[in-house]
Amino acid sequence: MKQPRTRRLIDIRTILENVSFFLEDLNPIYPIVIITLIVTVCFLLNSIATELPKLNSRKDWNTKTDSTFHNGCIDTQQYLLDPEYIKQNATFVMLARNKELQDVISTLESIESHFNQWFHYPYTFLNDEPFTEEFMNEIRNLVSSNVSFGQLSPEAWHLTDSYSLKQNLDLQGDRDILYGDIPSYHKMCRFYSGFFFRHELVSQYEWYWRIEPEVEFHCDLTYDPFLEMNRSGKKYGFTVIIPELPNTIPTLFRKTLSFIKQNNITVGSLWKLFTMDHYLVDTTTGVGGGREQNNTFEIIDKWINYPGEITEVIQREVEIEHLMSNLGSSISKSGLKNLIDRAKGQIPLVTNQYDQLEYNLCHFWSNFEIARVDIFNNDLYLKYFEYLDQQNGFWEERWGDAPVHSLGLSLALNVSDIHYFRDIGYRHSSLQHCPKNYISEKSSIFNLFSLAAMTSGSEPQYIATDERWQRSRKQKKYDKGYITGTGCRCRCPNDYRELEDSPAYCQNMWLDLTKEENPDKPREPLVAYTVAKSIIKENFIRTMSNN
Ligand code: GDP
Ligand code: MN
Repeated sequence: MKQPRTRRLIDIRTILENVSFFLEDLNPIYPIVIITLIVTVCFLLNSIATELPKLNSRKDWNTKTDSTFHNGCIDTQQYLLDPEYIKQNATFVMLARNKELQDVISTLESIESHFNQWFHYPYTFLNDEPFTEEFMNEIRNLVSSNVSFGQLSPEAWHLTDSYSLKQNLDLQGDRDILYGDIPSYHKMCRFYSGFFFRHELVSQYEWYWRIEPEVEFHCDLTYDPFLEMNRSGKKYGFTVIIPELPNTIPTLFRKTLSFIKQNNITVGSLWKLFTMDHYLVDTTTGVGGGREQNNTFEIIDKWINYPGEITEVIQREVEIEHLMSNLGSSISKSGLKNLIDRAKGQIPLVTNQYDQLEYNLCHFWSNFEIARVDIFNNDLYLKYFEYLDQQNGFWEERWGDAPVHSLGLSLALNVSDIHYFRDIGYRHSSLQHCPKNYISEKSSIFNLFSLAAMTSGSEPQYIATDERWQRSRKQKKYDKGYITGTGCRCRCPNDYRELEDSPAYCQNMWLDLTKEENPDKPREPLVAYTVAKSIIKENFIRTMSNN
């Protein structure tokens, strides 16, 4: 039945009256608090929305020099059936102890379910002792490919006959050098530095992928990394680049430099990733001036150790010069201060610096490597290793195989020979890199309208070839996709901080180098002293006359 019109009017009036009573009673502070809250939340959301894309992990890292082979997932079955697909002569390599069986199994489950269930690459296990039957059987039952087990020769697992070995290791222990007093750790580093690639079970292969017990892979790798590296001419692939602990390698860089000098080696452009050349400013005068011949500006070279110091140091020189030539007339305060500072100052002491070069301690983390066997199994690298071995650094110090590999490779390789496997999610001990999933631009627009598509493993779908690797519905929930992402079906645990978003100068050096137009060209001084000085002087005179 229809309500009478007057009745409805009364209803509205009562409501309005109630609202006005409510507003009159309302403490005026409440609306202010609510509005402030809303504005703050909007402001925070807006800041998050603008700040997040600035994170390194959200940026596009692909360059002409190095880019991800495939963004997101590809159809592996189709990839394998392609007549152009050629399985590579490659193996996984792991050095392990019998007692590490459970951790070895966890690594194998991860790599099988994320990669090898489709590609069936063989495994090579090495040990200084014989593997037990139990160890070998468990592994054979687990993996989908052939497995070989080998033992190391006594020479490959040896440090020295010197009576001072124990004393040296004890000393390293006393100085809190990580693993410094553990003989087997020193042996392991020496083995990986100079022997693994020569072992008969490994040297028969063209490619290897190094793995370790208790590592985790977070994404699916739906293509063949060996084939893609081969196709694109890459020789060494990494997932993590970090600085080494300086007290483990006090003389490694100096010894490397003497090796380079003794053998007259022209290093590859990869050398630029690991070293700082302190010849940053060209102080030669031009005509016939060579670096060694002209010592006039040697002091300036010593003051300038990083690019950021160039302007600062030259500015100081300009101010002092101006002060000295204007003594008696207008004295510049900054010039006077600089003069006093310079008189009191000392030449900066930079460790790991010899002959104008400094090792920046960066190295590829070698517990993950996908590489050609012959980048180590060649005359030059072997000669380098023999030289290092004779220098006793594997026991008098605790040289790690990671810095030895990186410096050794840079004797011959170029930046463009290296590949960053950004799409491989990887954790070892407490360090983790886990990429954002890739999503195509088309799907990303769709994403805006459909909540259902908000989680994206990026197509195609996961197909297990073995029931052990079947995934439940929950396991098939992958991380959100991004246009700048690279990963395929990644599920990144939040327990560890993303390495790409941690302050990391080594990673930035890699980024800067690969962004260069031609990273393989030899390093040159950044600026000519005379040019920089005249610009700085001009500015200085202008500000002086304005004051
Ligand atoms: P970290 O990653 O630097 O802490 O070093 P790990 O202890 O993980 O050792 C690196 C690799 O060498 C791993 O694959 C270990 O299983 C292996 N490893 C280390 N010490 C020994 C050893 O004494 N014998 C054998 N057979 N393998 C070892
Ligand atoms: Mn390890």
